[in-house]
Amino acid sequence: MNQTTKIINQAKEEGRKALLEPEAKTICAEYGISVNKFSLATSEKEAVEQADKIGYPIVLKIVSQDIIHKSDAGGVKVNLKTAAEVEVAYKTILENAKKYKADAKIDGIIVQEMAPQGTEVIVGAVKDPQFGPTVMFGLGGIFVELLKDVNFRVAPLTIVDAKEMITQLKAFPLLNGYRGSEPRDIDALAQILCEVSKLILDNPEIKELDLNPVMAYPKGAKTVDARIILE
Ligand code: ADP
Ligand code: MG
Repeated sequence: MNQTTKIINQAKEEGRKALLEPEAKTICAEYGISVNKFSLATSEKEAVEQADKIGYPIVLKIVSQDIIHKSDAGGVKVNLKTAAEVEVAYKTILENAKKYKADAKIDGIIVQEMAPQGTEVIVGAVKDPQFGPTVMFGLGGIFVELLKDVNFRVAPLTIVDAKEMITQLKAFPLLNGYRGSEPRDIDALAQILCEVSKLILDNPEIKELDLNPVMAYPKGAKTVDARIILE
């Protein structure tokens, strides 16, 4: 049995609808979607050991089925440069999580590679009541929330469909060398959209998927946050 099926079955057995970030990223990786290096720590000591292995700078985030939006809970610390900073961040995240939701079940803290700054884009998937599994693409932040500049396509997607979803955004110039910035790797982004399309068609138990953000670079792209909700 593949990892994806194993993870989904385990969540179902435990009565969980939201997959944890490490689980969602393991599934993404199995489908060829590039994710940053990560591991799960359950003590400060482990967190430091894992950070040393991954290499600094490091990002720590809360892993809890009861905390979906990690930043809102003070559960994300980026750009940690030393073991001492990792220790402090570990403690702070746990304290913040308790303040945010006293009875939250904490599974641990994810220790991960800090991805270089890129253009932040969002890849999503939902089940449209009428059309079924549908893939979404947009630029991060205000472009999605305020300007609603996003494109949807019904799965399965061809690479041509995926490229259209990207190039037909109003904000596409921001990905394509606006004001002398280097153009982002559209092929790599289109590839991710196709992989997401396959992932959701293969796994009808998935209700919603969010890769938010994916860092888009002149060469390649990397998913730094992944969320999957089951039916
Ligand atoms: P949430 O969406 O649950 O609040 P994220 O994992 O998306 O939490 O983290 C919040 C923000 O922190 C992201 O939008 C991104 O800008 C930044 N970030 C998170 N993880 C990384 C990482 N590994 N490398 C670089 N930046 C990151
Ligand atoms: Mg996020």
